Amino acid sequence: MPCLVIADADAIQDYVFACHELKLLRGGSGIQTGLMAELKRLAKHLNPARKHSVLRANGGTIIAEFPNKAAGEKFRREASRLFRERTGSAATVTTAHVPDTAPFDKCIEDLYSRLAMKKRWRLASEPVGKTPYSASCQACGMFAARESLADEDSRVPRVLCLACCLRLTNSRGIRYRLNPRRHLTTLEGIAERAKPANFLAIVYIDIDRLGEFMNGKKYSKTAYRAWSARIDFSVRRSIETARRVIDAPSEALLIGGDDAMVAIPAGCLYEFLKAFRARYRGNHYGTELPTFSVGAAIANSHFPITEFRRIASDLLRSAKTLREFDSVDYEIVTSSMTGKVIEDRSRADGRFRTAKPYHLEEWFRFCRSALDVKREVPASQVKALYRIANEGPLQAELEYDYLLTRVSVQARAYLKQIIAPGETVLDTRFWLMKPNGAVCTRAADLVEIQDFVNVA
Ligand SMILES: [Zn+2]
Repeated sequence: MPCLVIADADAIQDYVFACHELKLLRGGSGIQTGLMAELKRLAKHLNPARKHSVLRANGGTIIAEFPNKAAGEKFRREASRLFRERTGSAATVTTAHVPDTAPFDKCIEDLYSRLAMKKRWRLASEPVGKTPYSASCQACGMFAARESLADEDSRVPRVLCLACCLRLTNSRGIRYRLNPRRHLTTLEGIAERAKPANFLAIVYIDIDRLGEFMNGKKYSKTAYRAWSARIDFSVRRSIETARRVIDAPSEALLIGGDDAMVAIPAGCLYEFLKAFRARYRGNHYGTELPTFSVGAAIANSHFPITEFRRIASDLLRSAKTLREFDSVDYEIVTSSMTGKVIEDRSRADGRFRTAKPYHLEEWFRFCRSALDVKREVPASQVKALYRIANEGPLQAELEYDYLLTRVSVQARAYLKQIIAPGETVLDTRFWLMKPNGAVCTRAADLVEIQDFVNVA
């Protein structure tokens, strides 16, 4: 009986981000991409009669059809072996299979629930690669060191675990392919010429509720394959385009089927998202592609990559609370606020001194208006808005009104437009009510954005 098999890489981000160095991170990311390509070839090889036997192959997940259970079993065994071999057992894959019977959408649902069950079982039996008697790997610190390996850039040998040796070896081959313009060895290199200097943005883009979107289609096998390929292609292409448009050093840390994490100079965030959205929305497939959300963590490039990733993920979750639209949430992280960024936003009196997250279109408009303000209002007066946003509700209104009396007529118009566009609530011009009922102000956002977004 024909069957469907799914192979899904476990905790792919944990594997890729286990090392803080760009080189090793790049190597891990490259290994994952390579594994997907290998599994795709293998699936085709095991089902030569079908031209399109692979239904989905992206983001660490592959779904393929096989003529019989034996071929499916062979694929599953080989997938596990390849993951062990290529990653030095640092990354694993979970596989599951179901008989390929109609209707197809029911079949896929079964396949995913089986996979979820298997994944739950796995958690209990993670191998520990270290004993008290062995030295730890000098790169990831997670496994026992095995080999002393010299880095071709620094030429200082280090003792590394097998997984990190493989990461390092792999990063050599792919570094020029991913970054043809410039040889980057560190994240600091990306932020070197950034405005403001040394500030990096880690941008995490994710397509919203892809499962729901696909389920809404009541898809056939052909439609499922087509949509997986379209979304994968669109995300990849849009990232490539956006990286080209900003014309600055950048690095795609991770590109999956429906998500991507990219490191860019902080000042390029507006341009990058603008180009990404234009390319993504510019695809013509007859139907609109699903919406996407963006979480962007902006910090000094010395900030640990694991923290960048954690905060970007939190911000992405926050952006996803705005449904039905492309949305963005971002935060400029100073070392003093390394805790929970989202939770820290609410103030004692229940008001927010930020209007984040934003609908992406709204945020683009906001950035453009911020430039108008920059031209018209003296920097010191704009900066005062930051302090005002932190005052109590009434005090803030008073001080804001006073500030408005001290700027030019044109500047007053710009400020009113940007701080409280359209209708305002609470009979003030400083506080806004969001659709979810939260009372906030855009004043502090304005001060921030002026330093960090350079709109061309
Ligand atoms: Zn290691």
